[in-house]
Amino acid sequence: MALFVHKYGGTSVGTTDRIEGVADKLKKFKDEGHDLVVVVSAMSGETNRLIGLANDITETPTPREMDVLVSTGEQVTIALLSMALHKRGIPARSYTGSQVRILTDSAHMKARIQEIDTERMRGDLDEGKVVIVAGFQGVDEEGNITTLGRGGSDTTGVALAAALKADECHIYTDVDGVYTTDPRVVEHAQRMDKITFEEMLEMASLGSKVLQIRSVEFAGKYKVPLRVLHSFKEGPGTLITVEDEEAVEQPVISGIAFNRDEAKLTVQGVPDIPGVASKILGPIGEANIEVDMIVQNVAADKTTDFTFTVHRNDFSKAEAILKKTASELGAREVAASDSIAKVSLVGVGMRSHAGVASKMFDTLAQENINIQIISTSEIKISVVIAEKYLELAVRALHTAFGLDSESVQEGE
Ligand code: ASP
Ligand code: MG
Repeated sequence: MALFVHKYGGTSVGTTDRIEGVADKLKKFKDEGHDLVVVVSAMSGETNRLIGLANDITETPTPREMDVLVSTGEQVTIALLSMALHKRGIPARSYTGSQVRILTDSAHMKARIQEIDTERMRGDLDEGKVVIVAGFQGVDEEGNITTLGRGGSDTTGVALAAALKADECHIYTDVDGVYTTDPRVVEHAQRMDKITFEEMLEMASLGSKVLQIRSVEFAGKYKVPLRVLHSFKEGPGTLITVEDEEAVEQPVISGIAFNRDEAKLTVQGVPDIPGVASKILGPIGEANIEVDMIVQNVAADKTTDFTFTVHRNDFSKAEAILKKTASELGAREVAASDSIAKVSLVGVGMRSHAGVASKMFDTLAQENINIQIISTSEIKISVVIAEKYLELAVRALHTAFGLDSESVQEGE
Protein backbone atom coordinates (compact mmCIF):
# COMPACT_ATOMS: atom_id res chain seq x y z
CA MET A 1 0.00 0.00 0.00
CA ALA A 2 1.50 3.27 -1.06
CA LEU A 3 0.70 6.95 -1.08
CA PHE A 4 0.85 8.36 -4.58
CA VAL A 5 0.47 11.89 -5.79
CA HIS A 6 -0.84 11.89 -9.35
CA LYS A 7 -0.77 14.91 -11.61
CA TYR A 8 -2.87 15.02 -14.78
CA GLY A 9 -2.09 17.66 -17.38
CA GLY A 10 -4.46 19.68 -19.53
CA THR A 11 -4.85 17.18 -22.38
CA SER A 12 -5.54 14.36 -19.91
CA VAL A 13 -8.53 16.28 -18.56
CA GLY A 14 -9.30 18.07 -21.85
CA THR A 15 -12.88 16.73 -22.20
CA THR A 16 -15.43 15.26 -19.81
CA ASP A 17 -14.81 11.87 -21.45
CA ARG A 18 -11.16 12.12 -20.60
CA ILE A 19 -11.97 13.18 -17.06
CA GLU A 20 -14.05 9.99 -16.79
CA GLY A 21 -11.06 8.10 -18.16
CA VAL A 22 -8.88 9.55 -15.43
CA ALA A 23 -11.51 8.56 -12.86
CA ASP A 24 -11.42 4.96 -14.17
CA LYS A 25 -7.69 4.95 -13.79
CA LEU A 26 -7.85 6.32 -10.25
CA LYS A 27 -10.41 3.67 -9.37
CA LYS A 28 -7.90 0.96 -10.28
CA PHE A 29 -5.27 2.43 -7.94
CA LYS A 30 -7.88 2.80 -5.23
CA ASP A 31 -9.03 -0.80 -5.69
CA GLU A 32 -5.45 -1.91 -5.18
CA GLY A 33 -5.55 -0.19 -1.81
CA HIS A 34 -3.38 2.86 -2.49
CA ASP A 35 -3.89 6.32 -1.07
CA LEU A 36 -4.23 9.04 -3.67
CA VAL A 37 -3.77 12.76 -3.85
CA VAL A 38 -4.54 14.02 -7.33
CA VAL A 39 -3.45 17.32 -8.83
CA VAL A 40 -5.07 18.49 -12.05
CA SER A 41 -4.43 21.19 -14.61
CA ALA A 42 -7.10 23.19 -16.36
CA MET A 43 -8.73 21.59 -19.43
CA SER A 44 -6.36 21.97 -22.37
CA GLY A 45 -6.51 25.40 -23.96
CA GLU A 46 -8.46 26.84 -21.03
CA THR A 47 -5.65 28.86 -19.46
CA ASN A 48 -4.85 30.40 -22.84
CA ARG A 49 -8.52 31.15 -23.39
CA LEU A 50 -8.73 32.96 -20.06
CA ILE A 51 -5.61 34.99 -20.81
CA GLY A 52 -7.19 35.88 -24.17
CA LEU A 53 -10.31 37.19 -22.42
CA ALA A 54 -8.19 39.42 -20.21
CA ASN A 55 -6.34 40.73 -23.23
CA ASP A 56 -9.64 41.55 -24.95
CA ILE A 57 -10.25 44.01 -22.16
CA THR A 58 -6.82 45.39 -21.45
CA GLU A 59 -3.23 44.94 -22.48
CA THR A 60 -2.15 45.56 -18.91
CA PRO A 61 -4.29 43.55 -16.52
CA THR A 62 -2.94 43.66 -12.99
CA PRO A 63 -1.15 40.46 -11.97
CA ARG A 64 -3.48 40.05 -9.01
CA GLU A 65 -6.59 39.94 -11.21
CA MET A 66 -4.84 37.69 -13.71
CA ASP A 67 -4.36 35.17 -10.92
CA VAL A 68 -7.98 35.42 -9.86
CA LEU A 69 -8.88 34.76 -13.49
CA VAL A 70 -6.53 31.99 -14.55
CA SER A 71 -6.89 30.01 -11.34
CA THR A 72 -10.52 29.32 -12.29
CA GLY A 73 -9.46 26.82 -14.95
CA GLU A 74 -8.21 24.34 -12.39
CA GLN A 75 -11.23 24.85 -10.16
CA VAL A 76 -13.42 23.46 -12.93
CA THR A 77 -11.42 20.28 -13.34
CA ILE A 78 -11.12 19.43 -9.64
CA ALA A 79 -14.90 19.57 -9.25
CA LEU A 80 -15.59 17.53 -12.39
CA LEU A 81 -13.06 14.87 -11.47
CA SER A 82 -14.45 14.64 -7.98
CA MET A 83 -17.96 14.13 -9.40
CA ALA A 84 -16.67 11.44 -11.75
CA LEU A 85 -15.20 9.59 -8.78
CA HIS A 86 -18.41 9.91 -6.77
CA LYS A 87 -20.27 8.39 -9.72
CA ARG A 88 -17.94 5.39 -9.39
CA GLY A 89 -18.67 5.06 -5.69
CA ILE A 90 -15.31 6.49 -4.62
CA PRO A 91 -15.31 9.10 -1.88
CA ALA A 92 -13.38 12.15 -3.03
CA ARG A 93 -13.06 15.82 -2.14
CA SER A 94 -11.77 18.69 -4.19
CA TYR A 95 -9.74 21.61 -2.87
CA THR A 96 -8.45 24.84 -4.32
CA GLY A 97 -4.89 25.79 -3.45
CA SER A 98 -6.17 28.23 -0.91
CA GLN A 99 -8.43 25.65 0.74
CA VAL A 100 -5.50 23.28 1.24
CA ARG A 101 -3.47 26.27 2.21
CA ILE A 102 -0.65 26.08 -0.23
CA LEU A 103 1.05 29.18 1.08
CA THR A 104 3.12 31.14 -1.43
CA ASP A 105 4.89 34.46 -1.60
CA SER A 106 3.00 37.33 -3.20
CA ALA A 107 4.74 37.31 -6.58
CA HIS A 108 1.61 37.03 -8.70
CA MET A 109 1.88 34.83 -11.81
CA LYS A 110 5.21 33.43 -10.65
CA ALA A 111 4.68 32.75 -6.99
CA ARG A 112 6.85 30.35 -5.03
CA ILE A 113 5.49 27.85 -2.58
CA GLN A 114 6.57 28.47 0.99
CA GLU A 115 4.58 26.02 3.03
CA ILE A 116 1.89 23.40 2.61
CA ASP A 117 -0.59 22.52 5.29
CA THR A 118 -1.14 18.77 5.07
CA GLU A 119 -3.72 18.49 7.83
CA ARG A 120 -6.93 18.48 5.77
CA MET A 121 -5.44 16.17 3.18
CA ARG A 122 -4.24 13.75 5.86
CA GLY A 123 -7.66 13.77 7.46
CA ASP A 124 -9.35 12.86 4.18
CA LEU A 125 -6.79 10.19 3.36
CA ASP A 126 -7.33 8.63 6.77
CA GLU A 127 -11.04 8.45 5.97
CA GLY A 128 -10.28 6.68 2.70
CA LYS A 129 -11.03 9.66 0.50
CA VAL A 130 -9.24 10.62 -2.69
CA VAL A 131 -7.97 14.17 -2.33
CA ILE A 132 -8.15 16.30 -5.46
CA VAL A 133 -6.18 19.53 -5.54
CA ALA A 134 -6.17 22.34 -8.09
CA GLY A 135 -2.71 22.65 -9.58
CA PHE A 136 -0.85 25.85 -10.38
CA GLN A 137 -2.34 27.93 -7.55
CA GLY A 138 -1.81 28.97 -3.98
CA VAL A 139 -2.60 31.74 -1.59
CA ASP A 140 -0.40 34.40 -0.01
CA GLU A 141 -0.33 35.59 3.61
CA GLU A 142 -3.00 38.21 2.85
CA GLY A 143 -5.35 35.65 1.32
CA ASN A 144 -4.77 36.68 -2.29
CA ILE A 145 -4.95 33.94 -4.91
CA THR A 146 -1.57 33.39 -6.54
CA THR A 147 -0.37 31.21 -9.42
CA LEU A 148 2.97 29.53 -9.92
CA GLY A 149 3.75 30.33 -13.55
CA ARG A 150 2.76 28.47 -16.71
CA GLY A 151 2.99 24.74 -16.38
CA GLY A 152 2.92 25.18 -12.61
CA SER A 153 0.72 22.18 -11.87
CA ASP A 154 3.78 19.95 -12.12
CA THR A 155 5.29 21.93 -9.29
CA THR A 156 2.11 21.61 -7.23
CA GLY A 157 2.26 17.85 -7.70
CA VAL A 158 5.87 17.57 -6.63
CA ALA A 159 5.42 19.96 -3.73
CA LEU A 160 2.46 17.99 -2.38
CA ALA A 161 4.40 14.75 -2.76
CA ALA A 162 7.29 16.28 -0.81
CA ALA A 163 5.04 17.66 1.92
CA LEU A 164 3.12 14.39 2.29
CA LYS A 165 6.27 12.27 1.90
CA ALA A 166 4.52 10.33 -0.83
CA ASP A 167 6.11 7.17 -2.18
CA GLU A 168 6.09 8.49 -5.74
CA CYS A 169 4.79 11.42 -7.71
CA HIS A 170 3.29 10.38 -11.04
CA ILE A 171 3.08 12.95 -13.78
CA TYR A 172 0.49 11.75 -16.33
CA THR A 173 0.78 13.41 -19.68
CA ASP A 174 0.44 12.86 -23.42
CA VAL A 175 3.81 11.12 -23.85
CA ASP A 176 4.76 7.75 -22.39
CA GLY A 177 8.01 8.92 -20.82
CA VAL A 178 11.18 10.87 -21.33
CA TYR A 179 13.03 10.03 -24.51
CA THR A 180 16.73 9.92 -25.34
CA THR A 181 16.01 12.78 -27.69
CA ASP A 182 13.02 14.28 -29.49
CA PRO A 183 11.34 11.39 -31.38
CA ARG A 184 10.21 13.86 -34.04
CA VAL A 185 13.85 14.32 -34.98
CA VAL A 186 15.17 10.84 -34.34
CA GLU A 187 12.65 8.17 -35.18
CA HIS A 188 14.51 5.58 -33.14
CA ALA A 189 14.75 7.61 -29.97
CA GLN A 190 14.01 5.42 -26.96
CA ARG A 191 12.04 5.87 -23.83
CA MET A 192 14.41 5.91 -20.88
CA ASP A 193 13.53 3.69 -17.93
CA LYS A 194 15.37 5.94 -15.55
CA ILE A 195 17.10 9.30 -15.51
CA THR A 196 18.61 11.28 -12.64
CA PHE A 197 17.25 14.62 -11.44
CA GLU A 198 20.44 16.30 -12.61
CA GLU A 199 20.18 14.84 -16.08
CA MET A 200 16.51 15.69 -16.34
CA LEU A 201 17.27 19.28 -15.42
CA GLU A 202 19.79 19.47 -18.23
CA MET A 203 17.40 17.81 -20.64
CA ALA A 204 14.50 20.00 -19.58
CA SER A 205 16.36 23.28 -19.69
CA LEU A 206 17.71 22.36 -23.08
CA GLY A 207 14.37 21.91 -24.64
CA SER A 208 12.67 18.63 -23.80
CA LYS A 209 9.47 20.16 -22.61
CA VAL A 210 8.07 17.20 -20.74
CA LEU A 211 8.18 18.71 -17.28
CA GLN A 212 8.25 22.19 -15.90
CA ILE A 213 11.88 22.83 -14.93
CA ARG A 214 11.00 24.14 -11.51
CA SER A 215 9.19 20.94 -10.63
CA VAL A 216 12.32 18.92 -11.37
CA GLU A 217 14.46 21.22 -9.23
CA PHE A 218 11.96 20.84 -6.45
CA ALA A 219 11.83 17.06 -6.81
CA GLY A 220 15.63 16.87 -6.75
CA LYS A 221 15.87 19.04 -3.69
CA TYR A 222 13.41 16.96 -1.70
CA LYS A 223 14.32 13.67 -3.40
CA VAL A 224 10.77 12.98 -4.50
CA PRO A 225 10.83 10.10 -7.00
CA LEU A 226 9.01 11.35 -10.08
CA ARG A 227 7.56 9.16 -12.79
CA VAL A 228 6.41 10.46 -16.16
CA LEU A 229 3.67 8.28 -17.65
CA HIS A 230 1.10 8.33 -20.43
CA SER A 231 -2.38 9.10 -19.12
CA PHE A 232 -4.20 6.52 -21.21
CA LYS A 233 -1.63 3.94 -22.27
CA GLU A 234 -0.22 1.31 -19.97
CA GLY A 235 3.53 1.31 -19.45
CA PRO A 236 6.28 1.86 -16.90
CA GLY A 237 7.06 5.43 -18.02
CA THR A 238 10.33 7.05 -16.98
CA LEU A 239 11.46 7.25 -13.37
CA ILE A 240 13.37 10.39 -12.41
CA THR A 241 15.34 9.75 -9.28
CA VAL A 242 18.68 10.03 -7.49
CA GLU A 243 21.77 8.61 -9.08
CA ASP A 244 22.24 4.90 -8.54
CA GLU A 245 25.80 4.81 -7.20
CA GLU A 246 25.88 1.04 -7.32
CA ALA A 247 24.81 0.67 -10.93
CA VAL A 248 27.43 -1.46 -12.63
CA GLU A 249 26.82 -0.30 -16.11
CA GLN A 250 25.96 3.32 -16.33
CA PRO A 251 25.34 4.47 -19.88
CA VAL A 252 27.88 7.18 -20.68
CA ILE A 253 25.31 9.34 -22.40
CA SER A 254 21.70 9.31 -21.30
CA GLY A 255 20.22 11.69 -23.80
CA ILE A 256 20.72 14.39 -26.38
CA ALA A 257 19.04 17.73 -25.91
CA PHE A 258 18.96 20.55 -28.39
CA ASN A 259 17.44 23.92 -28.96
CA ARG A 260 17.03 26.49 -31.66
CA ASP A 261 16.17 29.30 -29.32
CA GLU A 262 19.56 30.92 -29.17
CA ALA A 263 21.51 33.50 -31.09
CA LYS A 264 25.22 34.22 -31.08
CA LEU A 265 27.02 37.55 -30.81
CA THR A 266 30.73 38.21 -31.14
CA VAL A 267 32.70 41.38 -30.53
CA GLN A 268 35.88 41.13 -32.52
CA GLY A 269 39.16 42.77 -31.65
CA VAL A 270 38.42 43.91 -28.13
CA PRO A 271 41.43 45.10 -26.15
CA ASP A 272 42.72 42.34 -23.85
CA ILE A 273 42.70 44.33 -20.61
CA PRO A 274 40.99 43.92 -17.23
CA GLY A 275 37.34 44.92 -17.05
CA VAL A 276 36.43 44.29 -20.67
CA ALA A 277 34.14 41.29 -20.08
CA SER A 278 32.21 43.23 -17.50
CA LYS A 279 31.93 46.25 -19.82
CA ILE A 280 30.52 44.02 -22.53
CA LEU A 281 28.07 42.02 -20.43
CA GLY A 282 27.12 44.76 -17.95
CA PRO A 283 24.75 46.61 -20.29
CA ILE A 284 23.34 43.29 -21.53
CA GLY A 285 22.47 42.30 -17.97
CA GLU A 286 21.03 45.72 -17.24
CA ALA A 287 18.69 45.25 -20.19
CA ASN A 288 17.50 42.05 -18.50
CA ILE A 289 18.90 39.84 -21.22
CA GLU A 290 20.02 36.45 -20.03
CA VAL A 291 23.34 35.17 -21.32
CA ASP A 292 23.87 31.46 -21.81
CA MET A 293 27.28 30.50 -23.18
CA ILE A 294 30.31 32.78 -22.94
CA VAL A 295 33.60 32.26 -24.72
CA GLN A 296 36.74 34.34 -24.72
CA ASN A 297 40.00 33.14 -26.11
CA VAL A 298 43.56 34.02 -25.09
CA ALA A 299 44.81 36.99 -27.03
CA ALA A 300 47.43 36.31 -29.67
CA ASP A 301 48.14 40.00 -30.09
CA LYS A 302 46.75 42.66 -27.79
CA THR A 303 43.15 42.06 -28.76
CA THR A 304 40.76 39.16 -28.52
CA ASP A 305 37.28 38.05 -29.59
CA PHE A 306 34.46 37.76 -27.10
CA THR A 307 31.45 35.59 -27.94
CA PHE A 308 28.24 34.88 -26.10
CA THR A 309 24.76 33.54 -26.77
CA VAL A 310 21.36 34.89 -25.77
CA HIS A 311 17.76 33.82 -26.30
CA ARG A 312 16.69 34.46 -29.88
CA ASN A 313 13.91 36.79 -28.75
CA ASP A 314 16.55 39.09 -27.28
CA PHE A 315 18.77 38.98 -30.35
CA SER A 316 18.11 42.41 -31.91
CA LYS A 317 18.08 44.13 -28.58
CA ALA A 318 21.41 42.53 -27.62
CA GLU A 319 22.93 43.35 -30.99
CA ALA A 320 22.04 47.02 -30.70
CA ILE A 321 23.49 47.24 -27.19
CA LEU A 322 26.62 45.42 -28.22
CA LYS A 323 27.28 47.69 -31.19
CA LYS A 324 27.24 50.65 -28.88
CA THR A 325 29.58 48.98 -26.39
CA ALA A 326 31.90 47.86 -29.18
CA SER A 327 32.41 51.38 -30.44
CA GLU A 328 32.99 52.65 -26.90
CA LEU A 329 35.62 49.96 -26.40
CA GLY A 330 37.26 50.58 -29.74
CA ALA A 331 36.58 47.02 -30.82
CA ARG A 332 36.91 46.05 -34.49
CA GLU A 333 33.37 44.89 -35.17
CA VAL A 334 30.32 42.94 -34.06
CA ALA A 335 29.39 39.70 -35.78
CA ALA A 336 26.03 38.17 -34.99
CA SER A 337 23.97 35.22 -36.10
CA ASP A 338 20.56 33.95 -35.13
CA SER A 339 20.65 30.86 -37.31
CA ILE A 340 22.46 28.69 -34.83
CA ALA A 341 21.44 25.68 -32.78
CA LYS A 342 22.81 24.14 -29.63
CA VAL A 343 23.21 20.40 -29.27
CA SER A 344 24.10 18.84 -25.93
CA LEU A 345 25.05 15.39 -24.77
CA VAL A 346 23.83 14.75 -21.24
CA GLY A 347 24.85 11.95 -18.92
CA VAL A 348 26.09 11.40 -15.37
CA GLY A 349 28.18 8.57 -16.83
CA MET A 350 30.44 11.24 -18.34
CA ARG A 351 32.02 11.81 -14.96
CA SER A 352 33.71 8.45 -15.07
CA HIS A 353 34.35 8.14 -18.79
CA ALA A 354 37.00 9.92 -20.79
CA GLY A 355 36.77 10.51 -24.50
CA VAL A 356 33.16 11.63 -24.76
CA ALA A 357 34.06 15.03 -26.13
CA SER A 358 36.49 13.71 -28.71
CA LYS A 359 33.97 11.14 -29.88
CA MET A 360 31.37 13.87 -30.20
CA PHE A 361 33.67 16.11 -32.21
CA ASP A 362 34.76 13.22 -34.36
CA THR A 363 31.17 12.30 -35.15
CA LEU A 364 30.37 15.88 -36.16
CA ALA A 365 33.54 16.10 -38.24
CA GLN A 366 32.56 13.00 -40.18
CA GLU A 367 29.33 14.73 -41.11
CA ASN A 368 31.28 17.83 -42.07
CA ILE A 369 29.56 19.91 -39.42
CA ASN A 370 31.54 22.86 -38.15
CA ILE A 371 31.53 23.53 -34.41
CA GLN A 372 31.27 27.21 -33.52
CA ILE A 373 31.27 27.11 -29.73
CA ILE A 374 31.96 24.36 -27.22
CA SER A 375 31.06 24.39 -23.57
CA THR A 376 31.15 21.66 -20.96
CA SER A 377 29.99 20.95 -17.46
CA GLU A 378 30.36 17.87 -15.32
CA ILE A 379 27.51 15.99 -16.97
CA LYS A 380 27.04 17.85 -20.25
CA ILE A 381 28.87 18.82 -23.41
CA SER A 382 27.25 21.42 -25.64
CA VAL A 383 28.19 22.63 -29.08
CA VAL A 384 26.79 25.43 -31.17
CA ILE A 385 26.46 24.66 -34.87
CA ALA A 386 24.65 26.14 -37.86
CA GLU A 387 20.93 25.57 -37.43
CA LYS A 388 20.57 23.85 -40.79
CA TYR A 389 22.70 20.92 -39.56
CA LEU A 390 20.78 20.38 -36.35
CA GLU A 391 18.81 17.26 -37.37
CA LEU A 392 21.83 15.71 -39.01
CA ALA A 393 23.95 16.31 -35.93
CA VAL A 394 21.41 14.93 -33.49
CA ARG A 395 20.84 11.78 -35.58
CA ALA A 396 24.54 11.12 -36.05
CA LEU A 397 25.27 11.57 -32.34
CA HIS A 398 22.30 9.45 -31.32
CA THR A 399 23.67 6.58 -33.40
CA ALA A 400 27.32 7.12 -32.44
CA PHE A 401 26.56 6.96 -28.72
CA GLY A 402 24.49 3.79 -29.04
CA LEU A 403 21.18 5.40 -28.17
CA ASP A 404 19.19 4.15 -31.18
CA SER A 405 16.54 1.60 -30.32
CA GLU A 406 17.54 -2.00 -30.98
CA SER A 407 15.58 -2.34 -34.17
CA VAL A 408 17.98 0.00 -35.97
CA GLN A 409 21.11 -1.18 -34.24
CA GLU A 410 20.39 -4.61 -35.63
CA GLY A 411 20.03 -3.02 -39.02
CA GLU A 412 16.31 -3.66 -39.43
N1 ASP B 1 -3.10 25.51 -16.45
C1 ASP B 1 -1.78 26.05 -16.24
C2 ASP B 1 -1.10 26.32 -17.58
O1 ASP B 1 -1.67 26.06 -18.62
C3 ASP B 1 -0.94 25.20 -15.35
C4 ASP B 1 -0.62 23.83 -15.89
O2 ASP B 1 -1.24 23.32 -16.79
O3 ASP B 1 0.31 23.23 -15.36
O4 ASP B 1 -0.01 26.81 -17.60
MG1 MG C 1 1.16 21.47 -18.42
